[in-house]
Amino acid sequence: MRNTADVVIIGGGIVGASIAYHLTRAGVRDVVVLERERLGAGSTGKNAGGIRLQFSSEINIRLSQRSLPRIERFKEEMGIDPDFHQVGYLFLITTDGDAAAFERSLELWKRLGVPARRVDPTEAKTLCPVARTDDVRFATFCAKDGYADPSSLLNGYVARARDGGAEFVEGAEVIAFACADGKVAGVRTNRGELSAPTVVDAAGPWAAQVAKLANVELPIAPLRRHIFVTDPVPGLDADFPLSVEFATGLYAHRESGGVLLGMGDPTQPPGFDTSVNWDFLPAVVERALSRFPILEHAKVRTGWAGLYEDTPDKHPILGRVEELPGFVCAAGFSGHGIMHAPATGEAIAELITKGKTTLDIGALAASRFRTGQLVREHNVI
Ligand SMILES: Cc1cc2nc3c(=O)[nH]c(=O)nc-3n(C[C@H](O)[C@H](O)[C@H](O)COP(=O)(O)OP(=O)(O)OC[C@H]3O[C@@H](n4cnc5c(N)ncnc54)[C@H](O)[C@@H]3O)c2cc1C
Repeated sequence: MRNTADVVIIGGGIVGASIAYHLTRAGVRDVVVLERERLGAGSTGKNAGGIRLQFSSEINIRLSQRSLPRIERFKEEMGIDPDFHQVGYLFLITTDGDAAAFERSLELWKRLGVPARRVDPTEAKTLCPVARTDDVRFATFCAKDGYADPSSLLNGYVARARDGGAEFVEGAEVIAFACADGKVAGVRTNRGELSAPTVVDAAGPWAAQVAKLANVELPIAPLRRHIFVTDPVPGLDADFPLSVEFATGLYAHRESGGVLLGMGDPTQPPGFDTSVNWDFLPAVVERALSRFPILEHAKVRTGWAGLYEDTPDKHPILGRVEELPGFVCAAGFSGHGIMHAPATGEAIAELITKGKTTLDIGALAASRFRTGQLVREHNVI
């Protein structure tokens, strides 16, 4: 491991890797990514791979609008196929409150040029024949959305960042910060010290712990979320849109011949536990059978749990942290870090190399929690 760098990135997930790639592309060769386990060991290895434009806040939409074309062109740009199934996201709306919120989103999407549209229950059924739609008030559909393979996205960023000179060090845990004259001067790891004028916290669900090492408080909480995958389902051949029963947060997409199911547990307290709570499975199965009756004879083959990195307003914290010059945060994606990794890498690299970003990320500054200028997002699943 080198002992000096221009930029140190803490966290070898998709966000750290994307930042490393974009830095090397901007001409910064002396980039070191420190990962305490192995690359992708955090949330990047545990998610559903969903990619969508259908958000309710302008900044989340803009992050997606910058990222999605990059995922569409990922193979050409990065040389690795991300297996992007661009089958669309279908949000099934069943309650009055959600109907009103999605009506507002439809207006916003029109203004921002998001090609999502309102569909009636009959068309929703045509788009996703395996979903029950008799209780659906309306649905929204965006054909640009879909799901990709997060490991391929990670591998692409790592490979091309390495080509550009970045070093990825596995088994290197940051245990302390070094500061001089009130600024970041480097980090101490279990494998030695590394001096650098800029340190990026891309530690996902552990980002608040890492920030604490630098005496910086970040409101990012780990929240356990489950995914279950079925065996191949008899009678289910075609792909279908990533479909979301919005009222419960149940979502489903095809996976290895079967179906991947996810749903949030409203009783889940924050914490780092990633063991599977099998007692939660019956609740998921009940909702899944009700919404997707074709799953009646499906067997759950496997399940796992990972961590959302939740902020109070469900938006990431991006940018320099005022209290400590040299400390940059890129974390708190609240369940959207795969789809927002391309735009994040680009923005953080621009910030470090040019001092400004082409996408205005001012709304995502850590200071918003102090000033109370939170950004609202309704479409979190
Ligand atoms: C069940 C589930 C489903 C999801 N579905 C989606 C989805 O459909 N679409 C989407 O966009 N997002 C989804 N997400 C969210 C997405 O997985 C995350 O937002 C994303 O992976 C965050 O990437 P990251 O690189 O910031 O963090 P991580 O991948 O968690 O990487 C952080 C890394 O930092 C390392 N680290 C921590 N502390 C230290 C230290 N002190 N020193 C060195 N290294 C350290 C960790 O080991 C870890 O590897 C989902 C998440 C879960 C759990």
